[in-house]
Amino acid sequence: MNSSIHERILKVQDSLPSTVKLIAVSKKVSVAAIREAYAAGIRDFGESRIQEAVAKIDDLKDLSDITWHFIGHLQSNKAKKALSYFQWFHSVDSLKLAQRLNLLAQEGRTTPKVCLQVKILPDPDKSGWTISQLLEDLVELNLCKSLQIEGLMTIPPLGLDSSKTLSVFNKTRELAEKIDNRKLSNIKIKQLSMGMSGDYQLAIQSGATMIRLGTILFGKRDL
Ligand SMILES: *Cc1c(COP(=O)(O)O)cnc(C)c1O
Repeated sequence: MNSSIHERILKVQDSLPSTVKLIAVSKKVSVAAIREAYAAGIRDFGESRIQEAVAKIDDLKDLSDITWHFIGHLQSNKAKKALSYFQWFHSVDSLKLAQRLNLLAQEGRTTPKVCLQVKILPDPDKSGWTISQLLEDLVELNLCKSLQIEGLMTIPPLGLDSSKTLSVFNKTRELAEKIDNRKLSNIKIKQLSMGMSGDYQLAIQSGATMIRLGTILFGKRDL
């Protein structure tokens, strides 16, 4: 890829419906590259490791209108720190984690926005609720009053063809509708966080409102 980060961002942004928020996934990306993305108009960034993120967020304090989205697996001993740096948590994947975040948020007088991570198909590499587990836990989740539970997040298993990927995204949207029909006081699913560099167009077809793109904007990450 010879085009610049700036050019790639404008190209992707141009192709998105106005209902879709682009989150630039900046894990393993330098602060300089994040500044370039900011200059191209990005205000939402996603990170997946607390230690790496905290150092970069501190470095970027002068860009005060960035919204930081945590998209990785959150270990409970890092939850408190995470709450002071991130406004969104896309990967809340268990009742236990939700309850811990809720307690810490209450103590810290913050009200983070949360997506519940769901696993539509069995996948040993991913965490998250199965559909039936999530439906069972809703009543307890609804008691987490310091969390603004506003979305579902999903990542399809690696290697699915497009029709199966589309079906995962569609089932996530249907699950959101089912949850909203329960009319819970504290859970309104307005956001579907789904779609990465390889499948975001399918996710948008299925109603994604937040897409999380790394590689297509910043280039290939070193492993
Ligand atoms: C790394 C990551 C992304 C971005 O993936 P790309 O394929 O580089 O676009 C999106 N979501 C999550 C949860 C990730 O960990």
